[in-house]
Amino acid sequence: MHQEQALAGVTFPQNDKPSDPQSLRMHGSHCSEEGLKRVSSAPQLGDQDKGGLLKRKLSVSDIESYFPHHLSVPKDLLDANDLECSLCMRLFYEPVTTPCGHTFCKNCLERCLDHTPQCPLCKESLREYLAGRKYVVTTVLDVLIKQLFSQEYEERTKTHLEENRELSDLTKNVPIFVCTMAYPTVPCPLHVFEPRYRLMIRRCMDTGTRQFGMCISDPQKGFADYGCMLIVRSVHFLPDGRSVVDTIGGKRFRVLSRGMKDGYNTADIQHLEDTKVRAKLEKLQELHDAVYEQAQVWFQNLKIRFHNQILQHFGPMPEREPDIQATPNGPACCWWLLAVLPIDPRYQLSVLSMTSLKDRLVKIQHILTYLQSIPNN
Ligand SMILES: [Zn+2]
Ligand SMILES: [Zn+2]
Repeated sequence: MHQEQALAGVTFPQNDKPSDPQSLRMHGSHCSEEGLKRVSSAPQLGDQDKGGLLKRKLSVSDIESYFPHHLSVPKDLLDANDLECSLCMRLFYEPVTTPCGHTFCKNCLERCLDHTPQCPLCKESLREYLAGRKYVVTTVLDVLIKQLFSQEYEERTKTHLEENRELSDLTKNVPIFVCTMAYPTVPCPLHVFEPRYRLMIRRCMDTGTRQFGMCISDPQKGFADYGCMLIVRSVHFLPDGRSVVDTIGGKRFRVLSRGMKDGYNTADIQHLEDTKVRAKLEKLQELHDAVYEQAQVWFQNLKIRFHNQILQHFGPMPEREPDIQATPNGPACCWWLLAVLPIDPRYQLSVLSMTSLKDRLVKIQHILTYLQSIPNN
């Protein structure tokens, strides 16, 4: 179906056209600029009108009226292929132009800048351009495409939306960040610097899902069978394109199958929910209350240095909840405890995967009892 072309270490989907870089350059920028000049002189304007247009800055509506709908350009002057992105070999989508004068789809250029801050065509440094994070769409080109190649543009938009829809699915091909343990309701700040994760976070934001899965690595399978969704609360970009992403844990999940997308891991997942208990509710409540009190004592008696570190990273221990079965994840205090207790990630993972609140409480009780049995803990 798709051929893959590698450019600046990034692979892009492309159509079945030849991929000689020299011809791309001609096609992608030089020719289209030539074509533009010829087209823009096409509408018949009186000298007076022309002068007026030149004196003030062109607005979008000016440009739109400049390329009226009924206007057609002879195919030997300008062809949709002339308005092709040299990275994805498709019609420009949200074309942006770099200070060096080269134009690419916004998404395509951003993916190149994830790897190296220079123009993929002429290699000029785009460090400042990247730091600015503006990516202003080249309006004249955008309007020209929409007006003169409306059918091609419609198809291109359809592909774009289709791709976005695939990226928005929260159970199929869900992006997986392989890094650390994450738990429902527990904050998880991330420093994102790897190109593949930069792309992943940007997609989460662009598609509007603001979510991805978090799993710890697994030597055999790549990443663990269980994980937790993380919801992005804010992204702070650094000038070099790295970012600090503030997230909080959402639903837990089980991995059904594994895949890859543009360098990062993906998975088909099934959400995990606690089995609601209806019988012996009092016993469960008693167990919960006992664990909660034990945890409070443990936290209060912790050395001030550790106590403050935990407060800084994870906040205070969550309040006691009136209904311990109110959410499919059970009370938040369990997850907070799992995150702060000094235990092996494999053990944490086994507790994360449990769908019985009782089992989870018993495990935490064991850990607390063990920790409190060590002198000078
Ligand atoms: Zn492109
Ligand atoms: Zn350039």
